[in-house]
Amino acid sequence: MVQHTDFDEPNTREVIVIGGGIAGLSAAIYLGRAQRDTLVIDSGHSMAKWEPVVENYLGFPDGVGGEELLRNGRKQAERYDVRFAQDEIKTVSARESVFVLKGKKKTYRTNRLLLATGIFHLPPEIPGVKECLGHSMFFCKDCDGCRVREKRIAIIGANNEAVEYALGMLHYSPCVIVATNGKRPSWDKRHARWLAEYEIPIARKRIRDVDHRRRKIRALDFVGGACVKIDYLFTTRGDIFHNTLAKKLGAKLGSDGQIKVDQCMRTSVPRLYAAGCVTPANCQMIIAAGQGAAAAQAINRDLFEESLATHSLRRFREAQIEEAKTVPEVTKTKS
Ligand SMILES: Cc1cc2nc3c(=O)[nH]c(=O)nc-3n(C[C@H](O)[C@H](O)[C@H](O)COP(=O)(O)OP(=O)(O)OC[C@H]3O[C@@H](n4cnc5c(N)ncnc54)[C@H](O)[C@@H]3O)c2cc1C
Repeated sequence: MVQHTDFDEPNTREVIVIGGGIAGLSAAIYLGRAQRDTLVIDSGHSMAKWEPVVENYLGFPDGVGGEELLRNGRKQAERYDVRFAQDEIKTVSARESVFVLKGKKKTYRTNRLLLATGIFHLPPEIPGVKECLGHSMFFCKDCDGCRVREKRIAIIGANNEAVEYALGMLHYSPCVIVATNGKRPSWDKRHARWLAEYEIPIARKRIRDVDHRRRKIRALDFVGGACVKIDYLFTTRGDIFHNTLAKKLGAKLGSDGQIKVDQCMRTSVPRLYAAGCVTPANCQMIIAAGQGAAAAQAINRDLFEESLATHSLRRFREAQIEEAKTVPEVTKTKS
């Protein structure tokens, strides 16, 4: 096994991945298979857990549970000797070529760090919404538009994005309304014209609560007594990018807080990589998995080049030559 970490301290690893969601697990599988001494540190709040049936992940024609995908991903990474720590990293610093990570439980050190910390979609603060998350209240057209075809759909929002969301949902259903939840609309004139042109109703009152049974939404109850019967709810409230550690290390961020990366998932900070929803990628599982794989390949390549530059591969080879048969046996062929 080619595990040639230069550090002797416990909790010091060749590669550490922060985040054991879809991107982190995919990276871990690649790193483990590349014989890299890898630790995944995870606080256990992957967004994938919110999705009971993922219908758009390649290879699962009948869908797959988000939890099951995570469980299997971890099992697959463990087959290749990847280690896991249940911890939350609170702060990070860089000392020479080593990242020092302070978790709630332990301190960890590594030479290469991958941030796969994801995002948090903000649900609307309306009583009854949280229970319906992932069941009848969604954030993403690409994930869930297809499963709400021909149903009654409300989009909560009062900006241009909400209008475009509602227009986009017309592909799936003729019955779409925008609910501003008592907010003054901030959509521009062009978007207001579209709402009128496409005859999309607007509910302007504040929503008192979401009427649901067994996580299935039945209606929106408005202040003042009106009740609008709907089947599904979408929101555009926004995302929180888990970028605190990247910020601490001085990595460049996008305007919304995404960690900027190149095509190989390298950040602006040497030896620091990022993958998944915390980057500017469209927040989809298959994209997060692909980015995790790309980041792992870049890390593996960069470590290989470093091992040539520092001659650590030579030292590893010397040990091989001493310990193992390195030349294949030569025998005479029968003529
Ligand atoms: C309700 C819902 C339904 C969805 N449905 C679908 C769908 O059907 N199809 C689809 O493609 N996508 C879907 N998504 C999106 C999908 O869940 C994400 O694209 C995917 O989980 C992103 O993977 P990630 O690895 O970037 O982040 P995550 O999977 O969220 O993983 C991030 C991990 O990092 C950990 N972490 C963060 N900070 C720290 C720290 N400081 N220390 C230690 N650990 C940390 C978190 O605990 C978490 O485990 C859905 C999302 C939601 C919310």
